[in-house]
Amino acid sequence: MIEVKNLTKRYGTHCAVNNISFQVEEGQILGFLGPNGAGKSTTMNILTGYLSPTDGTVTINGHDILEDPNKAKANIGYLPEQPPLYPDMTVREYLDFMYDLKKCVLPRKRHIAEICKVMKIEDVYGRLIKNLSKGYKQRVGMAQALIGNPPVLILDEPTVGLDPNQIIEIRSLIKVLGKHHTVILSSHILPEIEAVCDRIVVINEGKIVADDTTAELSAKVSKDRRLTVSIEGPVKEVTALISGINGVEKVVTLNSRETGVYEYSVDVAEGADIRRDLFTRLAQRGWPLLSSKSQTMSLEDIFINLTIRQNGGMQ
Ligand code: ADP
Ligand code: MG
Repeated sequence: MIEVKNLTKRYGTHCAVNNISFQVEEGQILGFLGPNGAGKSTTMNILTGYLSPTDGTVTINGHDILEDPNKAKANIGYLPEQPPLYPDMTVREYLDFMYDLKKCVLPRKRHIAEICKVMKIEDVYGRLIKNLSKGYKQRVGMAQALIGNPPVLILDEPTVGLDPNQIIEIRSLIKVLGKHHTVILSSHILPEIEAVCDRIVVINEGKIVADDTTAELSAKVSKDRRLTVSIEGPVKEVTALISGINGVEKVVTLNSRETGVYEYSVDVAEGADIRRDLFTRLAQRGWPLLSSKSQTMSLEDIFINLTIRQNGGMQ
């Protein structure tokens, strides 16, 4: 459905996207995951024909985005990072306007009504866009992308800046859309992508560092590999004790909230469970373990992991 081959984009001497290739099959929801500045928006702008690549090709449903831009673009609905909304229009006026702009040929009233129903924006149809909440604005932006019923949807950070309830709503809308569309969605937050995507392409500094199904990637970067523990006892000795446990890779002292009590962040090897060992040893020394919790690894940790794996030749 979408084929990206050896795509490169340079801004002057800065290489924002560095020779990336991937494919998206029909009906897939692909997550494009990477920290800020990784090259996600640049890639999406090239995929949608808003930006030309320095090198490489993009075909959408068999149409080359450079050689056959009109046909390629007709297959895509795009929600850019900054949704192209006109604040002084009502939702109705805006969607009408976008319908004309896209030269849509589907029955106007019925088509727009259907989109508003799917996006759950019927109740704000007559309101000015500038008076809508961020969540509604985002849904109007997505509605705009759906005009013309394009088979491919490209959504750039669709949940950024939304509150948790709005995020859940947008996620479930994306899942609904994924039933009838091929979707690429970007985010810098792993759980965001995990929740909705079948497959994840991880991009870092313009390069793809992982391309896996969500299940495979989650297994590789197991979530329970970092513990935060709070222990009452002398900081140096406690650090040494934790470091001495089999399976511990790294110990960092975080802070002290009460006198004599410190928090430590403990990274453990894949498959290791140090909790019992830690408890027993601390008990032997008479240093109480006050709390222990697993911590989700951050994207940064995942990148470090991925890079170590690649450099270490473990893949
Ligand atoms: P992301 O969407 O993953 O946060 P971007 O694609 O926006 O990343 O940016 C990738 C890199 O390219 C960043 O280092 C950014 O500063 C740079 N960049 C983006 N747009 C431009 C531009 N128009 N001119 C110069 N550099 C740019
Ligand atoms: Mg971006």
